[in-house]
Order: sequence, then C-alpha cells, then structure tokens
Amino acid sequence: MSLAVLKFGGTSVGDGAAIRQTAQIIREATAHWDRVVVVSSAMGKSSDPNDAIKVTDVLLNAARAAAAGDGDAYARARRLLADKHHAAIQATISNVEDRQRVGAEIDQLLDGFEMLCASVRVLGEVTPRALDAIAGLGERMAVRILAGALRSVGVMAEPLDATEFIVTNDRFQAAAPLMDLTRERTLARLTPLLEAGIVPVVTGFIGATPNGIPTTLGRGGSDYSASIIAAVLGADEVFNYTDVDGVLTSDPHIVPDARTIDVLTAQEMSEMAYFGASVLHPMTIAPLVERNIPLRVKNTFNPSHPGTLIVHQATTAPSRGVIKAVTAIKNVSMITVSGGGMKGVPGIAGRTFMTVARTNTSVLMISQASAEQNICFVIPRQAAQAVVAALNEEFRREIEHGEINPVETFDQASIITAVGMGISETPGVSGRVFSALGARQINVFAIAQGSSECAISMIVADDRCDEAVRALHELTKE
Ligand code: ASP
Ligand code: MG
Repeated sequence: MSLAVLKFGGTSVGDGAAIRQTAQIIREATAHWDRVVVVSSAMGKSSDPNDAIKVTDVLLNAARAAAAGDGDAYARARRLLADKHHAAIQATISNVEDRQRVGAEIDQLLDGFEMLCASVRVLGEVTPRALDAIAGLGERMAVRILAGALRSVGVMAEPLDATEFIVTNDRFQAAAPLMDLTRERTLARLTPLLEAGIVPVVTGFIGATPNGIPTTLGRGGSDYSASIIAAVLGADEVFNYTDVDGVLTSDPHIVPDARTIDVLTAQEMSEMAYFGASVLHPMTIAPLVERNIPLRVKNTFNPSHPGTLIVHQATTAPSRGVIKAVTAIKNVSMITVSGGGMKGVPGIAGRTFMTVARTNTSVLMISQASAEQNICFVIPRQAAQAVVAALNEEFRREIEHGEINPVETFDQASIITAVGMGISETPGVSGRVFSALGARQINVFAIAQGSSECAISMIVADDRCDEAVRALHELTKE
C-alpha cells in the first residue's frame, strides 16, 4: 500500500482560487497513491494584493491586543477572518448543504475565538497556553474548507483536528511530540479512514498534551506536523507544497541568478538552517531520517516543476557541484575572548559559554585556534552588549591580572556559509572559496567548519556580505 503525505502551506490555501488548485493537486495524487493524507496550514496571503491577511498573524495580534486592553481589535479581526473564510467557502464548495455546514463550523470556531479573546482582555494578560489555543484556530478553519473543496471535486475527504492524535509535551508555543503516544493515536484515528478510501485533511501546527490541552509546534510548524504524521504512518514520501519552486542555491534578493536545487541531503538542508528555515520548519527533517522517508518541496502554483528532493543517503544525491548553496546571516556580532593567560588553563571555554547561556543568547558559530589564545564566537547583534558586559564581569579578575584581555566585539559582521556534501572530502574546495574572496579583497575574520563536514562558515564584514555571497555562488556553477 503506497502512502503519501501532502502538506500545503498558507498561500496554497490563501484564497478560493488557491484552494481549488490545491484540491486539484490532491485529486491527482489520489490517482497515483493508494493512500493520501493531507496536512494544511491556516489560510495565508492571497495572490490578490487586496488580501494580504495571514490568519495566524491576525489571531495572535488580536490576542495580544486584547491582553493590552483593546476590546475592538478582536471584534474587527473576527469580521476580517469571517469574510476571508466565507469567501473561500463560496468559491470552493459547490454543494449547498455542505457549504452551509462548513460555514456554520467556521462561525462556531470564530465564536470560540471571540470568547477566548474576551477572557484574555478581562485577565489583562495572555499566557502561552492561551496563545496556543487561539493560534491553532486558523488551521482548524482551513481544513474544514479544504475538505469541503475536495468533496466538491469528487474526492472523499474528512477534516481532522490533530489535537486528537498528535500528542505533545506542554511546552506551549514550541511543543515537542511524544512519538509513542502519537503513533498509537494516529494509527487508530487515521487507519479506518484510509481503509475506507477517505483522505484525512489534518490541521498542521497543532497538537495537544496527553490530557487534551491544545499546543502548537511553533510558528511554521505545519511542516513538522506533516513529517511527524509521515513518520508514524511509515509514509513512502512527503510532498511539501509551497509557493516557490524549491530550495534555492542562494537568497535571490542577493543573488539574482539563484537556481532551484534538484537534490539535497538532509544534512545539507540542516546546514542551511536560517535560510532554509524560510522554506521548511527546522524540525521537519528529523522525524523522516530514521524511516528514510524522502521529502519533496514543490510549488502549488507551478506543479509541473520537479521541485527539490531531500534525501537521507548522500550516495543517492548526484554531486553536481561540490558547493550546492551559499547562505548568509546578517546582523551578527563576533565576540573574541583572548589573552596570553588562557593557554592550557582548563575551563575558560566552559565559563565563556556558560556566561553567554545565562544571558539567554544562542551562539551561531564558534571558532578557536589551536594556540588556545583566543575563542571567538558569533551571536545575534542585539545580544552583543549584554553578552560583553556579562563576560567582562565573569573574567573581571583575570582581566585585572592581565591574563585575559577585555572582551572584544566586532559588530558589523555577517556569517556566510557554503553548503555541500563534498566540501570536506574534496581537496581544493576551501582553497577555491578563499581565493574567490581574496580576489575581491574580502577579508575573512574567522572560519568554522561544521562537524557535519558539509559546510564552511566564514565571518566577513557586513558591507562585503552580498558581494561575498555572489562570489561564492559562482562556485556552485562548477
Ligand atoms: N499557521 C502557522 C504559522 O503561521 C503554521 C504554519 O503555517 O506552518 O506559523
Ligand atoms: Mg511554512
């Protein structure tokens, strides 16, 4: 029995026309696969420039406004959301009874939204738990409409709230799935539907604790929902439908001739962290690795394009070009802890990073030369001041004795990363990287090679970042 999980992002269900296109893609998939499970995000932006509403944002903003005492914002939000969803129902559901039923369900969910916001307003604060209950309403509305649209084109479909079977811990706003319970409940809930030839249309983004309190997997979490479901059902493939042709070789705002990548390994994808995250939620790949389930990123609005395939074994990825992609993280600061008294003294690195951790800052890159006279690392720029102050305090004694220098920062920094499976094992790649930068007189302040050995990261000055990315992008063409 072949099984595919198809996930659709916000723009793929952004308005009536998009939902009809999505329903068509699902209908075609049911002809190719024995079993199909659909996962949907909340309605996002429409291609109509007058409708830029992203439902999840509207829900969250209304909840925050209610917490701040605003009694009108959520009433306005309700009208906006009602209009958007009812327009989509009119455009996609042909059967009058079905249309009325789905319409009534949307109104009921919106009643719930108003009630939640009203209590948030009374309390004058919104807890992460309340935010999750409110944020998840977008997906719950979207799946009802998409299932209706599918029935209108002759596909048997049923909307499902993942709160019934994706079981998570109670870390609200970034909950983690409890896989054993999730597997048990997902199989129990979905198998009878699949056996009856019905397409389950499941809410992305949301789950519930073992006691049924609604949670979310974090913003952009519908991708993660799809891979959790694919993993527990043992799917053959996941299709992640979005509004771009796939994962690009670089940011097209920096590199106008960026191309779609045909095949990436999961490791390469994870090295593309920040930049890739705009395509896939960072947790998406993990559940698929163990079961070796490939994921294909596809464009709902250009479905004949093959997209980008993400696989787990390097050998199945053709190595056209050792460097496959170049990414940039801007607005970072490079911090250097240095001093003659550091050599051979255990614990300096430990104290350094413990201190950084206490400021609640995550470190993006680390590099230490073997002379042990300095440790340098990179953090988001807005955290720099607090981190430097904390480090100067932590090492106050050593600094007074001249063993460690006052902590230095370089604020105008960017991280550039070249990603590709062959980077570490192909001689000469780093040489080409540094010559490309050297030829343009671009100074590299620090280097780190990730332990996954499929990426090299470099620090360059902000004002040379774009030029450096373009220079390295030329190497993806070799
Ligand atoms: N609707 C959620 C969000 O906007 C989840 C998703 O779209 O993946 O974050
Ligand atoms: Mg997304």
